[in-house]
Amino acid sequence: MKYIVTGGSGMVGMHLQEIMPNAKYLSSKDCDLTSYQAVLDLFKKEKPDGVIHLAAKVGGILQNMVNPADFYDQNIMINSNTLMAAKEAGVERFLAVLSTCMYPDVADSYPMKEEDVHLGPPANANFSYAYTKRCMAVQIDAYRKQHGLEYNYIIPCNLYGENDNFEDSNKSHFITALIKKIVDSEKEGRSEIALFGTGKPMRQFMHSSDLANVIKKTVSEGMTESFNVAPPNQNYSIHDMAQMTLEVTGHSDWEIKYDSSKPDGQFRKDVSCEKMMHCLGDYEFIQFKDGVKKVYNALKKSYKE
Ligand code: NAP
Repeated sequence: MKYIVTGGSGMVGMHLQEIMPNAKYLSSKDCDLTSYQAVLDLFKKEKPDGVIHLAAKVGGILQNMVNPADFYDQNIMINSNTLMAAKEAGVERFLAVLSTCMYPDVADSYPMKEEDVHLGPPANANFSYAYTKRCMAVQIDAYRKQHGLEYNYIIPCNLYGENDNFEDSNKSHFITALIKKIVDSEKEGRSEIALFGTGKPMRQFMHSSDLANVIKKTVSEGMTESFNVAPPNQNYSIHDMAQMTLEVTGHSDWEIKYDSSKPDGQFRKDVSCEKMMHCLGDYEFIQFKDGVKKVYNALKKSYKE
């Protein structure tokens, strides 16, 4: 099958390029997905059998708080245009990558299951971005129902990886930023790191290559179910993750200083892996400490070059 991947120049897209080299990878320079006509023309010209939709305007909490309208406008257009154009161009398969931030801020029970998505509003910090992910789930489910299309989506937890943005702290994700802090402390001869909040909130984190592997497995095995994606049994507190990261980087004795005047964010947001395990069978995710070590080594290497 011929696949087009939107968001091909992003963190996940770069991993996918390594394992699905025959797909066509798009960045915003190849096609601005906020223009419906541009997407439709491209799909009609390329005639893909399937679209893997990764593209999104992604940003840190600060950017989300300051520019919520931009996150809403761009992501609603990117998602809706890509989906509508795929249907219009007769694309047979469509897999969208959403995010667990679309789940309710607070749930009655954890881990949250796929059917819990609409049981409450998402967290305030990135409310409009999260809502666009929810809207895409609603839109895909509606296309399945009305048009009988076998389109689906996966809902991944937080990611980290070697391809994350290390230099722009507004864009990098927690684990990547944590590793960068450790490497910076090493360079400056300090034996401590500083973190915002209390360290108590719990998070699921996945190495971005695992998400790429799951995407490949989903499309190559013709799965049309929609499901959460997170490494089973890896819901750790921020403190535990920081401690494990210090351990694998050889700094178990370093001090972690918490600035509890800064907000913690959601206390927990873990999602159920039950449906995913049913779909993926015996796929083995990278263990947290192994993934962190890979990213640390990659960052150290890039500093030496
Ligand atoms: P990323 O590194 O920020 O990459 C975003 C991609 O979207 C880039 O290829 C970018 O192209 C493209 N893009 C942005 N605006 C566009 C536009 N108007 N037209 C066309 N392309 C556009 O994202 P990622 O971290 O790989 O994430 C991939 C997907 O996973 C996203 O849908 C994201 O919401 C989801 N996700 C991410 C995380 C996470 O922690 N990173 C967690 C859960 C879910 P340019 O390079 O040209 O700008």
